[in-house]
Amino acid sequence: MIKKIIILLSLLPTAIYANDLSLYGIFNQGGIVIGNHPNAKKVTFENRELKLSDEGYFLFGFSRKFKNNSSVKVELKSGELIEKSFKINERTYEIEVLKGLPSKMVTPNAEQLEKIREDRATLSYAIRSNSEVSIFPKNFIRPLDGRTSGLYGSERILNGQKRNPHGGWDIAAPVGTPIKATAGGKILLAQKGFYYTGNVVIIGHGYDLKSMYIHMDKINVKKGDIIKQGDVIGTVGMTGRTLGPHLHWNVYWQNIKIDPELLMKVNVEN
Ligand SMILES: [Zn+2]
Repeated sequence: MIKKIIILLSLLPTAIYANDLSLYGIFNQGGIVIGNHPNAKKVTFENRELKLSDEGYFLFGFSRKFKNNSSVKVELKSGELIEKSFKINERTYEIEVLKGLPSKMVTPNAEQLEKIREDRATLSYAIRSNSEVSIFPKNFIRPLDGRTSGLYGSERILNGQKRNPHGGWDIAAPVGTPIKATAGGKILLAQKGFYYTGNVVIIGHGYDLKSMYIHMDKINVKKGDIIKQGDVIGTVGMTGRTLGPHLHWNVYWQNIKIDPELLMKVNVEN
């Protein structure tokens, strides 16, 4: 019981203010932070320069096993340097045991492995591609209502074999349920028939933030489309490796998977 309370408390959004520097977000492994300084000229996090909006907004995220301490460095137009240090809370992840998957979905043969390799190259190219969007994404909506059927970060045992940790948030809903874009952006990929992920849409929201929608049935958008928050990009399906209809939702900052549930908790004050 005590353990549960601590986990809940550490999931509460935090706001940090210092010298006109504001940081909003979840300082947890898998979390995402949106920052602002009206006079920022250059911002760096973990030696990476962040994209900066005209109003001085930027964002960065923490991987599943991110270290405990870090900082963000802001160089102002005046030349002054600000560094803000913070602690990142460690999380414990669930262990998910799934049984009864078709064996070709756990131990694919050589031909299937070749297809999987091609799929990975296509998907990672889209994840790494640039999407310049002028509007900074400050608030996000759930793509659909539904029961959580898989958590970010879980260790996975599929048919008794250890596999990669679960990188997204699974939301179960009937086939055909509309899926909405969590924020506006540009469609970087809208393609059917991936081996594990089935029918997939990837949206670039600018500022190195991307969202990816997996196991879809219908796809309503095409590569290059510009969409608004809430636009229906397609419907829930059960394509690829899945035991039932659900949306598997990934969120990336750069090429790092962050927790979509924590993205929902970011609350930027205007
Ligand atoms: Zn999933």
